[in-house]
Amino acid sequence: MAKRDYYEVLGVDKNADEASIKKAYRKLAMQYHPDKNPDNKAAEEKFKEASEAYEVLSDKEKRQIYDQYGHAGVEGQFGAGGFSWDNFTHRSDLNDIFGDGFSSIFDSIFGGGFGSRSSGRSSNHGEDLQIELSLSLKEIAVGAEKKIKISTKEACDKCNGTGSADGQVETCSQCRGSGQIRQVRQSLFGQMQTVSECPSCRGEGKIIKNKCSKCYGEGRMAKVKEISVKIPAGVEENQYIRLRGQGNVGPRGGTRGDILVLIHEKQDDLFERHGNDIVMEYPISISQAVLGDEILVPTLSGKVKMKIPSGTQSGRLFRLKGQGIQSLNSYSKGDEIVRVVVVIPTKISKEETEMFTKLKEYDAKRDFKPGKGFFSKLRDYFS
Ligand SMILES: [Zn+2]
Ligand SMILES: [Zn+2]
Repeated sequence: MAKRDYYEVLGVDKNADEASIKKAYRKLAMQYHPDKNPDNKAAEEKFKEASEAYEVLSDKEKRQIYDQYGHAGVEGQFGAGGFSWDNFTHRSDLNDIFGDGFSSIFDSIFGGGFGSRSSGRSSNHGEDLQIELSLSLKEIAVGAEKKIKISTKEACDKCNGTGSADGQVETCSQCRGSGQIRQVRQSLFGQMQTVSECPSCRGEGKIIKNKCSKCYGEGRMAKVKEISVKIPAGVEENQYIRLRGQGNVGPRGGTRGDILVLIHEKQDDLFERHGNDIVMEYPISISQAVLGDEILVPTLSGKVKMKIPSGTQSGRLFRLKGQGIQSLNSYSKGDEIVRVVVVIPTKISKEETEMFTKLKEYDAKRDFKPGKGFFSKLRDYFS
């Protein structure tokens, strides 16, 4: 199979700037995220392909060489087998996108060589906790700091987290403290050694004879604590923020897990989000449409004046620059798009009836004809 063009892979223009390249990669990385596509080889390949393209196009020098000589020009940058994850130098970008727990996912999927985190957690590592956080569009637009109450397991205050009533902890006699049992078996293929968790101490290597009466030897207890979460502006539905080391403490003096804060975007009554832009519909009267007017349009941060020119058609879109959502990865801001809709009154007074009757006489002199573009618009609508 021919190698695809890097620009094509990321779906960007040849002249795309750095920000749009990053944005495009970010989108693909979200889509083919190993977490969202467990055991999906095709997604994994797509992710790798996008990462290779990003590796080259995000680097000024490499990009220049690629533009001039194509794939042959940059091949030498990678190893003999082509691009591998060892060649990827933008892990911090992925951390921006997925939170800094990403590298551990990466390690498990792509076989390491990538993360700084030591693999294989100790047997008494505390659990990760997940909480959902609902945010309004207004909060997402500028970022927020939220206080959340969460029940976590904290060190027992009676035994100081040891789980022992008298402070005595004995080394497990079955595994002699290693927490593992090794067994050598004969199989068809020769000698095989298997390693399993020690059943006596459940892998901890230690045994507590006299257990703490408050935590029953676990060394930890459930407590409600309040945590503070900083949400950057521009987050999206289903993204998560990892609060490292704030999850459950492990049993008997173990290490702490993390808290994963899953972002949920609340529906807004007025605005609909499209990327970093927001869209709203604003009703105007027939007279405002015909004569023009100045209206006060709600935004995420208040209200702004907007001019409606005379002769405005129903459905016309107006763009309010910079009134949208702050981008997560750059300093740019989205826009607010206002769709004005002319409202036809259904109940009118006697006086209005007289005026509309008069208008009707004028309208009769106008030569309305169906527009040529009507059917193609109709087709667009139903397609
Ligand atoms: Zn205790
Ligand atoms: Zn043991």
